Amino acid sequence: KNADIGLVGLAVMGQNLALNIADHGYTIAVYNRDPKKMLNFIEECKAKEPSHERVVGHADLASFVLSIKRPRKIVLLVKAGSATDVTINALLPFLEHGDIIIDGGNALWTDTIRREKELAAKGIEFIGSGVSGGETGARFGPSLMPSGTRKAWSSLEPIWRDIAAKVDPVTGTPLEGGEPGKPVQGGFSCAEYIGPDGAGHYVKMVHNGIEYIDMQLICEAYWLMKNLLGMPADEIGKVFAEWNKGELSSFLIEITADILQQRDPGGKGFLVDNILDTAGQKGTGQWTAANALELGAPANAIAAAVYARALSSLKEERVEASRILKGPEIVKETDKPAIIEAIKNALYCSKICAYAQGFQLIDKAQVAYNWKLNFGELAQIWRGGCIIRARFLQKITDAYALNSRLKNLMLDPYFTNAMNEGQAGWRKVIALAVTNGIPAQGFAAALAYYDGYRSADLPANLLQGQRDFFGAHTYERKDHPRGQFFHLDWPEKGRPELSIE
Ligand code: NDP
Repeated sequence: KNADIGLVGLAVMGQNLALNIADHGYTIAVYNRDPKKMLNFIEECKAKEPSHERVVGHADLASFVLSIKRPRKIVLLVKAGSATDVTINALLPFLEHGDIIIDGGNALWTDTIRREKELAAKGIEFIGSGVSGGETGARFGPSLMPSGTRKAWSSLEPIWRDIAAKVDPVTGTPLEGGEPGKPVQGGFSCAEYIGPDGAGHYVKMVHNGIEYIDMQLICEAYWLMKNLLGMPADEIGKVFAEWNKGELSSFLIEITADILQQRDPGGKGFLVDNILDTAGQKGTGQWTAANALELGAPANAIAAAVYARALSSLKEERVEASRILKGPEIVKETDKPAIIEAIKNALYCSKICAYAQGFQLIDKAQVAYNWKLNFGELAQIWRGGCIIRARFLQKITDAYALNSRLKNLMLDPYFTNAMNEGQAGWRKVIALAVTNGIPAQGFAAALAYYDGYRSADLPANLLQGQRDFFGAHTYERKDHPRGQFFHLDWPEKGRPELSIE
C-alpha cells in the first residue's frame, strides 16, 4: 500500500487532476473502466511528465483499491449521473470502514445527498466536491468546493488545499503557476470546506448558473457593439482587453478579448464570425434555474441565460422567422465612446445582479437544506482557478466581511454605488436594444430584477385581488398587520359598481 490517493475516470478532467496531484508530491493510483485509456495515459506521462513516477496505473479494480493507503481516498471523475453509481457499486466490495469516496463530477446535489446517506450506512465516507476550472484548472489549480462530514474533509484537506488554485490572501489576485512539475507555493487556497452532504455540489451548480449568465451578458455586449456601432470583431476584442484592466477584469473577459481577435485559421476573416450561433449546454444552468423556480428565488437573469441558449439552438427556425417576422431597421449610433461606456455599465450592473441572484438562491437553499454557508469564503474560492474567476469577487468577499447577514449584494455600499452610477447607461443600452430590435435578454432580465427589487410597491396588489376573485385565495391589507388574511365576496363579474360598502 503506497498510493496516497486513488482516482477513477481518466478522461480530460481525471488525467489533469491526477497530474496536478502527482506534481504536489503525492503518489496517485489511477484506474479507468476502459484500461486502454489508462495505458495510453501512463505512456504519455512517461514521455513528458516530470512527476510520472508518482502516477501508477491499474487495470483491475482490486489491485487499484488495495494499493491505496488507509483510510483510502478515491476521487471519481466519471460522467455525472448513473455512471457515478455504477462506479461506486463496483468499488464497494473492495472498500473498508472509514474509506472515503470523493465525487469530483458535476453531480446533481440531491444525488450527492442520497449517495452520502447510502454510503454512510455502509461505513464509507462520501465527499461531494465541485471542481471548477475545466482542463487547465484541473491541471494547474482548480477551484474546489468540497462537502461531507468534517472528519472526511480533514483527511482530504491537505491534498485538496495543495492542488487548488492559489490567490493572494489580501488582494485575492490569482497567483499564476502553470508549469508541469512546478506547483504554485503559498497563498490562499481555493479549496474551502463548504458544508454537509450536497452543499458543495449545490454551490458548484449555482457557480455554473452564474457562469451561464456571465457568458450571456458578455455575448450581448459584443452583439450590441457589433450591431449598434458596426465594429469588427477585433476592434470589439480590443475593447474587452481594455475592460479587462478595470473592475470587469475576469477570466471570461480576458478569453473573450482573445477569441474576438482570433483570425480564422482557414484565412476567412475572424474565426468568431464563422462559428455557428447555436449554443450547447450540459444541464447545470438548467438545474440552477429549475431549482430557483422550486425554491421561489427570483433568479430570472440566470434563467434568461438558459433560455437564450435554448433559443439559439433553433437556428433553422430562426432563419426562417427572420424572413417572416418584422422588426425595426437598425440605426447605427455615432457617439461610439458614449455607447461603449453605456454597454460597459450595462455589463457591470447586470453582472452584479447575476451574482446577487446566485447568492440569494444559495441563501434559500441553505435554509431548505439546513446548511450554514460562508458567502464571503465562497466568493474567495471562486477567485482563482474557476471559470467565473474575476477581480470583483474580492468585493463580494469584502461585502460579506462587512456584513455577514447581507440580504442582497446590491445593498452593500460598494455595489449600491456601482448600480447607482451605472444604471443610466444600462437603461440607455436596453432602450437602444429594444428600439433597434436587438435581443438583449440577459441585460433586460437583470434590469427587471433590479427595478423589481428596488420597488417599494408592485402591482401584486391587483394580482392578489385576481386570486381572491377567482379562487378565494385571500389577501393581506396595507392597513393591517402582515399575516391577517381577508376575503371579499366579490360582486358579480362585470358589475363592480355593486361593490360592497
Ligand atoms: P466525461 O464526463 O466525458 O466522463 C468520462 C469518464 O467517465 C471516463 O472515464 C469514462 O470511462 C467514464 N464513464 C462514462 N460512462 C461510464 C459508465 N456508464 N460507467 C462507468 N464509467 C463511465 O469526462 P470529463 O473528464 O469531461 O468529466 C469528468 C467529470 O467531471 C464529469 O462528471 C463532468 O461533469 C465533471 N466536470 C467536467 C468539467 C470539464 O470541463 N470537462 C469541469 C468540471 C467538472 P471510459 O473511458 O471507460 O468510457
